[in-house]
Amino acid sequence: MFINIPSPLQQLKDFAGHQVLVKRDDLIDPYVSGNKWRKLKYILAGADAQQKNHLVTFGGAYSNHLVATAAACSKAGLKSTAFVRGDAVSCIHNEMLMLCRLFGMELIFTDRLSYKNKKLLFETQFTEDQNAFFVDEGGASPEAVKGCAEIIAELPEDIDHLFCAAGTGTTAAGLLTGIHQRGLKTKLHVIPVLKGGDFIADEISKYTGGTAQLILHTDYHFGGYAKTSPDLIDFIKNFTAAEGILIDPVYTAKMFYAIEHLHASGYFKPSDKIVALHTGGLLGLLGMKDKFEQI
Ligand SMILES: *Cc1c(COP(=O)(O)O)cnc(C)c1O
Repeated sequence: MFINIPSPLQQLKDFAGHQVLVKRDDLIDPYVSGNKWRKLKYILAGADAQQKNHLVTFGGAYSNHLVATAAACSKAGLKSTAFVRGDAVSCIHNEMLMLCRLFGMELIFTDRLSYKNKKLLFETQFTEDQNAFFVDEGGASPEAVKGCAEIIAELPEDIDHLFCAAGTGTTAAGLLTGIHQRGLKTKLHVIPVLKGGDFIADEISKYTGGTAQLILHTDYHFGGYAKTSPDLIDFIKNFTAAEGILIDPVYTAKMFYAIEHLHASGYFKPSDKIVALHTGGLLGLLGMKDKFEQI
């Protein structure tokens, strides 16, 4: 499969004299973007090993995971189906689902109650299909952790602070696994994008067995998942214009905002080497056009 790995490491121009590097996983592929490719890599290998050629997965109507799965499956020559939470929506109203359909994914719109029991949905609708392979929402799995751990091998070993945004914490668990495996001194700073993000530490420990070198910053959620503020929208505009790097309001903008805020409060030593993982997800901008009306 053609995938642009290892992704580049780029220095930010405009960070008040401090060296901040960005691991551009957003450049892996426009659609199988960022951490979603890292998470899918070993899931696809697992399906292949079991000779399953039909991935069945789950997501909301603006899920980066769905587009990534649809695009990865078409590249790999696999069928894909997704249970989409909520009422049916037309392509006119949802660019993400339009892309899923273009990549050949079949969409099954599912009410919120039925959506809760994913295993049951899979078992009732795909009992007959010997080729169907269950992939959890967002790709959360030990395979995903393994794929994300590989990011560490593509980075310099002397990083003091590595930052990432977290939804489920699976990506962060992979990064921490990679740091521990290599015995690095790097601290992993995680920015949960949901309110009450303390649960992420437990999610990470489930995979890593411990939280040594993990620092959670739970105050940069901006009100919760997919919530924004005029301040965050301004930040996105200024950052993108200054750096030529797009960031999205759901994940990466909250992470870069946190880095800038910590930097302004004197959190880092001048000699500290900082890396931010750009996890991609830029199509998320398309679902939030209304937030940018005033820019
Ligand atoms: C899905 C996603 C995340 C969150 O990843 P988790 O492994 O669920 O924590 C972060 N950034 C982007 C851009 C994403 O699409």
